[in-house]
Amino acid sequence: GSHVSRGSRNFIPLDYTMMTEYATSVVQHVRPTESELVMKDTILRRISDICNNLVPGSRVVPFGSLVSGFATKGADMDVIFSHDTIEPQPSSMDSNIPIRLANEFLKRGFEVDLLIRTRVPILKVKTPSPGLEPGSRPSSPSAEHVLKETIEEDPWPENISCDIGFKNHLGITNSHFLRTYSQCDPRFGEMVLFIKQWSKNRDLNSPYFGTLSSYGYVLMVAHFLINIVQPPVLPNLQLIPPEPDTPLSEVSQDGYNIWYFKDLSRIESGDLLPGGKNEMSLGQLIHEFFQYYTTNFNFVSEVVTIRTPGGVMYKQEKGWTSARERVGEMTTYQDRYLLALEDPFEISHNVGRTCGGAGVRRIRGEMQRAAQMIRKLSTPFLHENAGRHA
Ligand code: ATP
Ligand code: MG
Repeated sequence: GSHVSRGSRNFIPLDYTMMTEYATSVVQHVRPTESELVMKDTILRRISDICNNLVPGSRVVPFGSLVSGFATKGADMDVIFSHDTIEPQPSSMDSNIPIRLANEFLKRGFEVDLLIRTRVPILKVKTPSPGLEPGSRPSSPSAEHVLKETIEEDPWPENISCDIGFKNHLGITNSHFLRTYSQCDPRFGEMVLFIKQWSKNRDLNSPYFGTLSSYGYVLMVAHFLINIVQPPVLPNLQLIPPEPDTPLSEVSQDGYNIWYFKDLSRIESGDLLPGGKNEMSLGQLIHEFFQYYTTNFNFVSEVVTIRTPGGVMYKQEKGWTSARERVGEMTTYQDRYLLALEDPFEISHNVGRTCGGAGVRRIRGEMQRAAQMIRKLSTPFLHENAGRHA
C-alpha cells in the first residue's frame, strides 16, 4: 500500500519550478550581506565593552538568529547579559543592573527602551549613528574603522537594534540546537527565511501584539520537516540517545533535558534518515507546509512538538486547555494555548502563548491564502489556458 502523509493532498500533479525560483530569489534577497555580519560583530563587541565598563567581568553572549543562522537583513540582535564570576546564577545579581545599564547606553547616545511587560526584562538598545556619539570611547581604532567602513559601503542598516536579556537559561542552547538542524539540510534555513519574510510582510510576526515570534515559526517549520513530510527532510536529533560517557552538561540544564545529537558527520552521511533522501523542491516544501497547517493540523486540539516521535501531542494530555495567569519577574502575564507550540527543551512552555484568538485566525487565513496562491502558480493547466486565451 502506498503511504500518504498527513501533508500531501495533491491530486493534480503541480509544477513547482516557478515557486522554487521565486522562493530562492526571496531567500537570496533577505539573507544578510557579509558586511552586515561584520558590522554586527563590531557592534556586539562595543556593547560588550559598555557592559564590562559598568560591571567588570561582564559581557554579552549572542543567541537567536545570529547564532542559528536564520537572520534576515537588518534583523535585531539577541544577546544575554552574562557575568563570568556569578554565572550561571544571574538571580544573585544586582537587580538594578538593567536600569543602570540602560543609563549607561543612554549616555553614549544609544536609543534605549526597557521592556518590563515581558516574561523577563529586556533592554532594547539601538546603535547611534557613528560620529554622533557623545563621549564615545571606541574599544579599538580598528573596530571603529570597520564600523564606519561597512556602514558607508552598505548604508541601509544604520540603526541596528540589540535586545539584551538578563535571564535566559535555554535561549543560547536552543539557538545552537537550531543551528545544528540548519546544518542537516539547506532547505530548512531556506524555508525559515522564506516563512519569516512572509510572516513579516503579512504582519504576522509581532509577539507583543498577538501573533507569533520568529522562533515559533522556526519550530513550525522544523516539525513539518522532521515529522510530516515523507520521507522526512530532517532526522529527530532529540530521539537519538546519548553515548553513556556523554558529559552531564550536554544532557541536562536547570532540570531540563537538553540532549540532542550533534555529530554532523553522521548526519551528513544520511544514515539517520532510513527512509531515504527527500528530494522535494523548496517550492513544493513551502506549499506542503502551508497546506499541512491549514488542512491537516488541528489548531484546536493539537500541540506541535518536535521532540516526540510523531511530533504531535494533544492539548488535553499536556493540560494546555485554559488560559491562566502567571506571576513573572515584574509583571503578571497570561499563558494561552490557542496556538500550542511546545518548546523543545522547556516543555512546559508554550512558544505560541503570544497568540490571541484574532492572531491565530489571521495566521490561518494568511496560510490559506498563501497555499492557494502557490497552487495557482504551480498548476500547469491554468498556465496553458491563460496562454491560449491571451
Ligand atoms: P528575528 O530575526 O525575527 O529576530 P530570531 O530567529 O532571532 O528572529 P526570535 O523570535 O527573535 O528569533 O527568537 C530568538 C530567541 O529568543 C530564540 O532562539 C529563543 O531562544 C527565544 N525566544 C523567542 N521567542 C520565544 C518564545 N515565545 N518562547 C521562548 N523563547 C523564545
Ligand atoms: Mg531575534
